[in-house]
Amino acid sequence: MRAPAGAATGSQVYAPTAGPAADGPDVPHAAVAPVPCPQARPGESALRHHARRLLRTLLPAACALCGTVQDETVCAGCALELLAPLPRCRCCARPLGRSAGPGAASLCAQCRYEPPPFDDALVLGDYARPQDGLVLALKFGGVLPLADWLGGELARRWQAESGRSGLALPDVLAPIPLSAQRLAERGFNQSWEIARPLARRLGVRAAPTLLARLRDTPAQATLDLPARQANLQDAFGLGASHDVAGQHVGLVDDVMTSGATLGEAARVLKANGAARVTLVVALRTPGPA
Ligand SMILES: [Zn+2]
Ligand SMILES: [Zn+2]
Repeated sequence: MRAPAGAATGSQVYAPTAGPAADGPDVPHAAVAPVPCPQARPGESALRHHARRLLRTLLPAACALCGTVQDETVCAGCALELLAPLPRCRCCARPLGRSAGPGAASLCAQCRYEPPPFDDALVLGDYARPQDGLVLALKFGGVLPLADWLGGELARRWQAESGRSGLALPDVLAPIPLSAQRLAERGFNQSWEIARPLARRLGVRAAPTLLARLRDTPAQATLDLPARQANLQDAFGLGASHDVAGQHVGLVDDVMTSGATLGEAARVLKANGAARVTLVVALRTPGPA
């Protein structure tokens, strides 16, 4: 375990701020009841306790999820069990019911009713316990090897999807940018930390400033979906000196909740001429938006 270069240290790294996050993906456990734990410290939030418990297991060569000492960041057994591909909507990656049936043509009801501004979405698994701990330890614990592992698994997922449905590799990968304030607090952008190894493994270009955050946005957590979308208006713009006309952009984030943030970023890319936008997200909330 090591702190990222230039990141805050000590309590700043290991203790997330108490307030709600500035956007959807930063809000853990929105729909999950906290599980009481006898090891919780007095006054400790469920999030902080969950992150601390995970960090304790993150010894070198110990699986980040089960603690088994072996060679991988996440052991093969946990990866197989927790990140097993499920039938998902090929557009938004929402899990589909058993009745959906196999095949690349599967779309969820919401995407059929109102197609989102992105074209495809690849995710590793659901944003639910215990695998949500991977993202929590990355973001709030600064455990950057997890970003490398997530990037590697997403590259594998993309290559598998290429073979299955012919999904082309992107021309460029771009992270969802953090606000300047959030970036200063955290010291790194977890989406960029995932995008970098993903781009390296796929052999494509990664552009950290392809999208710019034009303004900070109030916390998404307390808003319903229409309010989230309104909240994000003019939040993103194309970064200076970037051109996405005719390009296939892979938009990288750690978590997808309602999809409002990623949808708005995709809309901006399409408005600037992007030919295709594929979301590449580590974990996605399993329920409806
Ligand atoms: Zn394990
Ligand atoms: Zn869908």
